[in-house]
Amino acid sequence: MVRSSAHDGCTTKLASSKEGCADSEEDYQGFKKYVPESISYGAERLKQEVKKGYELVKFQALPEHLKDNEFIFKHYRSDWPLREALGSIFTIHNETLNIWTHLVGFFVFMGLTIYTAMKLPPVGEIPSMIHQLRWHSVTDELTNMVAPQPQKAISRWPFFVFLSGAMFCLLSSSVCHLLYCHSELMARFLLKLDYIGIAYLIAASFYPPVYYTFLCNPLLRNTYLTGITCLGLVTVAVSLMPRFQTHRYRPFRAILFASMGISGIVPCVHKLLLHWGEPAAETTFYLEVTMGGLYGLGAVIYATRIPERWKPGHFDIAGHSHQLFHILVVAGALTHYRAGLLYLKWRDEQGCEVI
Ligand SMILES: [Zn+2]
Repeated sequence: MVRSSAHDGCTTKLASSKEGCADSEEDYQGFKKYVPESISYGAERLKQEVKKGYELVKFQALPEHLKDNEFIFKHYRSDWPLREALGSIFTIHNETLNIWTHLVGFFVFMGLTIYTAMKLPPVGEIPSMIHQLRWHSVTDELTNMVAPQPQKAISRWPFFVFLSGAMFCLLSSSVCHLLYCHSELMARFLLKLDYIGIAYLIAASFYPPVYYTFLCNPLLRNTYLTGITCLGLVTVAVSLMPRFQTHRYRPFRAILFASMGISGIVPCVHKLLLHWGEPAAETTFYLEVTMGGLYGLGAVIYATRIPERWKPGHFDIAGHSHQLFHILVVAGALTHYRAGLLYLKWRDEQGCEVI
């Protein structure tokens, strides 16, 4: 059923389109010379089978489950076999930059995770080696952020929860954009994975600020962490509902994830009240505001589909809203990484008796 709708759309576009279906028309005519007219119906079916999955098509040719953004007109993959879908990571279509923006982000965070794990001093130890491992340029900044003379290094796991959330979200998103075109079943599965990844990243982002801010107050710390974990699980449960994945619910999805992020204002303000005047608390607050701004802008662009809404068909390959949304998510996560390093430095320098 899905395939026939794709073919119908493809056929109707044949006469006027130079892209997609029209590309194989000459081959088909050549092939048709060798078959009797009596089997032309079968040949027509064969022609459609040959077309299936190997060329880019227009929006009108898409099956319903792939019709997500009517302001993007062309360069769609539809019902492609897995092998071709995987190979399309190296070809140009309207998902290429969606795939690569988050794939590059994933590798950046994987590198940061490995580098951070190597650089951070072990818990409870004074890292004399940290000064010997001073690198240049970008890595210098990371090294400088770690406490120069920590009293006692505190737990690192909340920081790695955030890093794992960032990697999971970026990788699942990238895979989703790569293989989404394969089939309706695959698309539904990958969309769920994508939404789980977003909820995981948002919830995991709470762990470093909450854990290190309320390090000396286990009751507050555990209350906040339990609260955001439950909120994340509820969001995942909602995002697994089939209705949630329909295009009609795009604004609802944006609002749900945005509200989860906005709830971070509570521990953030609480931190300022508890640690008023402390430079680390203020700097991390500004970084969190920046991160919130980047994520918020991303959510607005995602929901409104700007700029392609203003000039439909002009941003099919590059510059459409989803690509901008992806870039803002990576930028927000990198800002949060920087804040996480400051938290570690702060707490390594000023530990507390109750850890
Ligand atoms: Zn995406």
